[in-house]
Amino acid sequence: MAHFTVIGLGRFGITASLELIYLGHTVTGVDSDEKLAEQYAEELTQTIICDATDERALKELNLINSDAVLVAIGEDMQASLLCTLHLKNLGVQELWVKANTSAHHTILSKLGVSRIIHPEEDMGVRVAQALNYPMVNDYLSIGHGYYVVEVHIADKLSGLTVAELLGDNLRIVETLLVKREQELFTKPDTQFTLRGKDIALFCGTRAVLKNLAPRLV
Ligand code: ATP
Repeated sequence: MAHFTVIGLGRFGITASLELIYLGHTVTGVDSDEKLAEQYAEELTQTIICDATDERALKELNLINSDAVLVAIGEDMQASLLCTLHLKNLGVQELWVKANTSAHHTILSKLGVSRIIHPEEDMGVRVAQALNYPMVNDYLSIGHGYYVVEVHIADKLSGLTVAELLGDNLRIVETLLVKREQELFTKPDTQFTLRGKDIALFCGTRAVLKNLAPRLV
């Protein structure tokens, strides 16, 4: 169990906070809006009303006890940057900050923020990918152009082996896992027979996975 502090309880901040609580962690939610702090006082471990641009007020939060601090103030770039600067001065190491614009991103990266998040863009890409490849339920970028995609095997593909499904892509796409109801088949070999409703995880470059997509419908 870890402890997190989330500054800014707008839609993004509160969604992240509640998910962390659900995952078994403790979360301190911070917002300058008294109503929001009161509203989520029961659901989060604690909520604190605080202007995050005030360094002295931030100091009193003892943020050094948090495993990570997430700054989820998006719209007010000045407030986000001031808050980030103070958190850096207070020695917060694991600092994740939401950025709304590329200027915001550039300054945050100059401030040495551990992770800069673009939720709208990330979600936009995810939605476009899902619309484009409806059989791809989710995907994860693992860097250097490689992705892991979660594919729901269509009923009409039932009975194909991994080799038959991947065709020419067999050597360049890695089949990591097949989940069949409660059962997991890790690194299935090329002769593993797929069934409809299996969930498969494939890994490859974006171009290769794109090439594979028509074979999955
Ligand atoms: P979302 O899309 O997640 O709703 P947003 O990008 O519109 O958020 P904002 O509305 O700027 O982001 O801020 C999110 C939250 O941060 C709000 O609840 C707001 O009250 C809080 N907030 C803004 N400025 C400060 C500040 N200086 N100190 C503490 N909280 C702040």
